[in-house]
Parts: sequence; C-alpha cells; structure tokens
Amino acid sequence: MTFKDLGLSAPLLKAIREQGYETPTPIQEKAIPVILQKKDVLAGAQTGTGKTAGFTLPLLELLSRAKHKTQQHKVKALVLTPTRELASQVEESVRLYGKHLPYKSAVIFGGVKINPQIAALRKGVDIVVATPGRLLDHISQKTINLASVDFLILDEADRMLDMGFVNDIKKVVAILPKERQTLLFSATYSDAIKKLSNQFLKSPKLIEVARANTSSEIVKQAVYHVDKTRKRELLTHLINEGKWQQVLVFTRTKHGANRLSGQLEKDGITAVAIHGNKSQNARTKALADFKKGVVRVLVATDIAARGIDIDQLPHVVNFELPNVSEDYVHRIGRTGRAGNNGEAISLVCVDEDEFLANIEKLIKKDIPKVWLKGFKPDPSIKAEPINMGGNRGARNKPRGRGRR
Ligand code: AMP
Repeated sequence: MTFKDLGLSAPLLKAIREQGYETPTPIQEKAIPVILQKKDVLAGAQTGTGKTAGFTLPLLELLSRAKHKTQQHKVKALVLTPTRELASQVEESVRLYGKHLPYKSAVIFGGVKINPQIAALRKGVDIVVATPGRLLDHISQKTINLASVDFLILDEADRMLDMGFVNDIKKVVAILPKERQTLLFSATYSDAIKKLSNQFLKSPKLIEVARANTSSEIVKQAVYHVDKTRKRELLTHLINEGKWQQVLVFTRTKHGANRLSGQLEKDGITAVAIHGNKSQNARTKALADFKKGVVRVLVATDIAARGIDIDQLPHVVNFELPNVSEDYVHRIGRTGRAGNNGEAISLVCVDEDEFLANIEKLIKKDIPKVWLKGFKPDPSIKAEPINMGGNRGARNKPRGRGRR
C-alpha cells in the first residue's frame, strides 16, 4: 500500500516524499480512505502511530478537492487539542504536509499574548489548531469566525476529558455548523469518550489500530526496583553507563521535576524541567534544546509532556510511576514511535507496588522486574538482579508481581 493508493494527490505526495515517509502507517492506511469518503470517524490510536498525518493529510486533500475559492482563508477546519505543545506540533504538521498547497494555518493557545493571534486570524486562515480555553476567549471576543467550519477534529480527546475540558468543548461545538465532518481521536476508550462520540459524531466509522488500553508492543518495558532514596543515583548511573544522549524522564510533581533536573545538572548531566508552572516560552525553549541535543534530559510532568513528539526518542524513564494508570500508557508512547524501537524503564520503590499492579492490570501484561547490581532494593521485593548492559531483555518471560 502506498500513499498514492490511498487517494492523495500530487502536492501532498510530494510533501510526504520530502518527509521521507515510504509507506503509510496502519492508522493512516485505515483512516485516510474513510475520511476521504467524508465519513465521521472515531479512531482509537495511540500517540506515535502516525495519527496526526492520518487526519491532516486527508483533511488537506478534501480542502483542495473542494477548492473553497469563494471562501479563501476562512476557517474551514478546526482541530482541538488538550495542550499547547500538541497544538503547536499539529499545526507544524499541517504546514509541513500542506507546504505545496495554498492553505494558511494558525495555532491558538493560552499562556501567550492574544494580540498576535488576533492579527493572524484577521489576515485570514483556513485551518485553526487550538486548545479549548483560549479558543473560547477568541469566540467571546469575536476575534474568530467559525461559521464556515466544515471539519472538526478532536485530537487526544481522552486527554481533553481528563483535563476537564468537556464543557469548553461543548461550548465550542455548539457554535459550529451542524453540517460538518467530525473526527475524534483517542488513545483510550471510556464511557465518557463514547458519550462524547454519540453527541458529536454522525454514524461514525470505528477505526482501531492497537487494542485500546494496551501499551505499544515495540516499546521494551522494564521495572527497575530500587530504594526511593537511591533513584536519582540509579538514574545518573543508567544515563552515564548506557551513554544515553536523549532521555525523557517523568516525575509526578512539578516540584519533583525541578528538583531532579537540578540534581542531574549537579551530576554533570545537562537537564531541563518542563511543567505547567513554566512560561510557554520557557517550555518551547526547553523542548527545542532537548530536540537539538543541547540538553540530554528533559524532566517532565504528565500534562507538560503530553503531545511531545520527538522522532526516535530512545529512552523514557518513569522516575515515579503515575498514580493514574492511563498516564503510563501515554508516557511510554513517547518512545518507539512510528516503528522505531524504544525502551521505557520505570524506577519503582516499595511504596509504588499498588500503582504497578494497576498498570499491569490495565496493559494486561507483566512488566519484567529487575534490579541493577549495586542498587539492591528492599529484600521483600522479587526481581532478577542484572548487570549494566547485561542480561536485561534476555528474560522477557512474565514473572509474578513485584512483592511477595
Ligand atoms: P503521531 O502519532 O502523529 O504523533 O506521529 C508519530 C511520528 O511518526 C511523527 O514523528 C511523524 O513524523 C512520524 N510519521 C508519521 N507518519 C509516518 C509514516 N508514514 N512513515 C514514517 N514516519 C511517520
């Protein structure tokens, strides 16, 4: 199957070639033809599956087929995302894939000045990618006109619900034209997602590429049992000994993220923290530095990391396990993207047993449990001792849960 077989035309095929994509990913193979048939879509796709191109490409194709000549640069497509980072990245994809087409796009989110956004909207845009809160500000200030919207895309809808955006989304959808095509993407299915889909989508076609609520198969997962007080030391050891150059580390709190990045710096490892208390500019710079390799470690909280898309990110570390199991799936989805191998390591202490059990229940899989020689955990813990660069991964057979 090629992109051409999917029904995309020359300007898009050229942009795809320039990106170096050779074949469509499974979600693209399934979603693109259905979207081109102008059907509503409810897609269960995790991040990293190529879902952004899965909706951006057919959207651009449909816009170019419709040739809205009389409505140049009116907002025809609206993409809603949970976070600023994801909004930026989706809009970047729109520009990238649409570079040989005449459409203009804009990204709209809070935490930055509204005036440049107003100016961009006034000049006229075809595609708007927005987070719900700031979009509502524009709506109430009448600085955006959504009366020509033909396409609504809800990206990472599960996350938008988790973040409490449901009423904001409803307010936005209420003012959109009823005649439109709606696409809803979500990594996980829940009753709330089904309800949202019933409300907003018309006889949607269901598309699923990976089973809902399972972690990506290409990500090698491991639990490293360790005493709480030695987690930082173990992390430094893993980074140094493994010569890891790019690692995304998750902490549960903003304070924890700041503290850990400071400690890593003291250990001689360049690190920066990214979380909701940082200004948008600081977050953008941190992400850019991490992508360029200026800093080796990005320490992030769950919300801040949402939507981060880095090609071939090889290592994700959970410095603490998340107490919300779904976050584990989202976290490890940062690695092993688009067919690349990835490794997700969780540093787990005795207190986190319950979180681990819940995560394993959700992903329906036992994660291999080890401890690194020199970092012996609590004796009550059942795990295999390993050497650095040693036999990890060689014994992937499922074992019993952490503690006896
Ligand atoms: P997403 O799931 O949309 O966040 O995409 C994950 C990554 O896959 C992004 O870095 C894309 O650039 C990349 N990607 C998307 N489609 C393809 C494809 N057909 N072939 C190779 N890489 C792709």
